[in-house]
Amino acid sequence: MEKRHWRCFVCNDIHHGVAPPGLCPTCKVPNAYVEVSAAEARRIVGGGADTSLAPDEFRTALERFAAGNEFRLNPDRERVDLLLRGVFENERRYGLKFCPCRVRTKDWEEDLRIVCPCNFTVHETYQGAPGGACWCGLFVRRT
Ligand code: SF4
Repeated sequence: MEKRHWRCFVCNDIHHGVAPPGLCPTCKVPNAYVEVSAAEARRIVGGGADTSLAPDEFRTALERFAAGNEFRLNPDRERVDLLLRGVFENERRYGLKFCPCRVRTKDWEEDLRIVCPCNFTVHETYQGAPGGACWCGLFVRRT
């Protein structure tokens, strides 16, 4: 199923999915989403203030994301630091936190699949043996 872009007519929340949410998670208005083009969605999202996360804030965000999940940040701190440097360098160069160990296709929709953290639980490197990890080893299975 193809994902499309939807905009809340009340608060301009943007949703990217196969269907709009029944309830806007931001302003809580029901049936609020209208379909918009990808270009319009990008312009709306890009029109906000520059609120990029600092590296430490991003690390904390990833730790919160992993808490309660079957995975966690790799306990190898040096490796995590190296990967996060790559993630931030990609953001500086290309505007999004692209995966530090994969190559962009330059197709916007396709490249959204490698924004970190990606959907790594489907990676064979994660699914295979115990001790699985995301493609780069930023996240590992809890043992
Ligand atoms: S493979 Fe790991 S480092 Fe790369 S985008 Fe996915 S979660 Fe991030």
